[in-house]
Amino acid sequence: MPQYDTIIIGGGPAGISAALTLRAMERSVIVISGDSKDSGLYKAKRIDNYPGMPGVSGEAMLTAMYAQLSASGAELVRGIALSAVKTKKGFMVSVGNDAYQSRTLIVAVGAAKGVVYENEDKLLGRGVSYCAVCDGALYKNKPVVVLALRSDAEEEAEQLRRIGCDVTVIDPKGKKIAFIGDDKLTAVKVDGEELAAACVFVLRAAIAPAALISGLEISDGAIIADRLGRTSIEGLFAAGDCGGKPYQVAKAVGEGQIAAYSANDLI
Ligand SMILES: Cc1cc2nc3c(=O)[nH]c(=O)nc-3n(C[C@H](O)[C@H](O)[C@H](O)COP(=O)(O)OP(=O)(O)OC[C@H]3O[C@@H](n4cnc5c(N)ncnc54)[C@H](O)[C@@H]3O)c2cc1C
Repeated sequence: MPQYDTIIIGGGPAGISAALTLRAMERSVIVISGDSKDSGLYKAKRIDNYPGMPGVSGEAMLTAMYAQLSASGAELVRGIALSAVKTKKGFMVSVGNDAYQSRTLIVAVGAAKGVVYENEDKLLGRGVSYCAVCDGALYKNKPVVVLALRSDAEEEAEQLRRIGCDVTVIDPKGKKIAFIGDDKLTAVKVDGEELAAACVFVLRAAIAPAALISGLEISDGAIIADRLGRTSIEGLFAAGDCGGKPYQVAKAVGEGQIAAYSANDLI
């Protein structure tokens, strides 16, 4: 299993800033991130309050950050980290069927978004999945529903079709969704209409930090961290919007750098 000094989950301004600082300290770093289009920054049409770059678009700023990240020698993996566990030596993070190990972990996943659907927790692992790559093969030739909450959801739906699933893609925004079933999922209810399904793939752009790793203290959906980015789990640091308001690029970049210094002290 690949081993790094630091794994960074989230490739927005906070995660990229942390990676650049750790690379400047010659630490080995991997950034695991979903699509750039799912970063809050990408959605900002125009930023006027970031020093030195008046009027820049969020997309242009993020493109420049990624060029800098790539030149720094940090590794980048595109995908959603579904779980992290604390091990004797540090952390293990899973992305699809792959896993990565590190001494320290920086969580920079952006602001918590999204609703939890009715029966989602109850049926998780019993017809509710967050990962088409990991669980798709279990539902070959069966009807499945994809809730498209992130930019690459259509690609994952196509992958499910290729392996023989009978896929219905739903954009859940503005719709009332519930999952039906006692021991396992039997249907997805959309605005009162039931669609028979053996599995529903809930493809969110982010996983709530509390669901990512157990033991992480959260308040109002934000990770509790001190001024050095330290959280309730030793070796795990938080930076950016996932630590709460204000949701601002300059703050995210600054906190990413502080988290990098704190992680460096432990390596
Ligand atoms: C419309 C809009 C306008 C804005 N305007 C301004 C402005 O003018 N000035 C300003 O300073 N700020 C502005 N912001 C806020 C700013 O964009 C955010 O504060 C900033 O992007 C936060 O950076 P971050 O790195 O914490 O999170 P994000 O930029 O949200 O990045 C988080 C990244 O983590 C990834 N991720 C999440 N979960 C996982 C996971 N489990 N595994 C892998 N990857 C994951 C996401 O895909 C995303 O790419 C605006 C935001 C929006 C939406």
